[in-house]
Amino acid sequence: MNILSIGSVAFDSIQTPFGKVNKALGGSATFFSLTASNFIKTSVVAVVGKDFTLKNQKIFTRKNIDISGLEKAPGKTFFWSGKYSFDLNSRETLFTHLNVFKNFKPKISAKHALSPFVFLGNIHPILQLEVLKQIKSPKLIGCDTMNLWIDTEKKELIKVLKSIDILIINDSEARQMAKEPNLLTASKKILSLMAKKTDRIPPVLVVKKGEHGLIMLQGKKFFSLPSYPLEKVLDPTGAGDSFAGGFFGFLAKTENLSWNNLKKACAYGTVTASFCVEQFGTKALENLTVTQIQKRYQEFKDLTHFELTKNK
Ligand code: AMP
Repeated sequence: MNILSIGSVAFDSIQTPFGKVNKALGGSATFFSLTASNFIKTSVVAVVGKDFTLKNQKIFTRKNIDISGLEKAPGKTFFWSGKYSFDLNSRETLFTHLNVFKNFKPKISAKHALSPFVFLGNIHPILQLEVLKQIKSPKLIGCDTMNLWIDTEKKELIKVLKSIDILIINDSEARQMAKEPNLLTASKKILSLMAKKTDRIPPVLVVKKGEHGLIMLQGKKFFSLPSYPLEKVLDPTGAGDSFAGGFFGFLAKTENLSWNNLKKACAYGTVTASFCVEQFGTKALENLTVTQIQKRYQEFKDLTHFELTKNK
């Protein structure tokens, strides 16, 4: 089993109240693959420019990530810049330079087209649809998006929603997409947009609430989980993609799509995202180990369980 991850590979310039970085490696597919690869072999399909260095490349290959689908095009790598508020709960995009993404047409190799698990990271919905057309017989398709595409490409985005199994978005995006202030009502509306057309699993929606955890819905089933409590948070960039990497990585590794396993996947996603925000950019994820993930998962399990068992 393996995961095919499509999204952006980028350079990010980030300012938070705790510091800043200039042109650090980032992008939705980068954060996703760095976390998912702790669970299962992960391949990346994306485009970078001539300014993408061997040092950048090694960040992927050291985690055994397959970058044969990472195209190198003439021009500059996607460049994004964001600035966070004092409490890190909101961020302003300072600029988005699409660069090589402007002309990117994802070409999925014969090997990648057979990937059972596919994650469509945050990129233009038209690119997400182009990728989906090339996938042969997926077992599970996950997807992320952002406010920009909800604003500008809603029609295409709804087409994407109708072809996927799991949508992972944040609370402000859910409210914006459903045009509804109540999060639960908004979530139910979005779930109803994800009409079931396949014989895979009934659609699942995960809505992340930053430091306040998440909710997950599937049909009439509902789950809620807090975030992992941290005193040191330096940079939330990539937390969403790192959540998705842990969540999807765990599902792909266990090949179990039951409601109970989806709940466990939420816990693994929460834990992998918690590592991401402790340092700027991808720094914390580059050397993250499975042992560290397992240790924090156990701590998280203890602090979210409240019913006494016989032995404790
Ligand atoms: P997150 O904090 O999980 O929303 O992800 C942040 C990452 O998304 C950054 O590393 C950016 O490079 C990337 N990003 C920002 N805007 C876009 C966009 N329009 N398309 C694709 N990736 C983006």
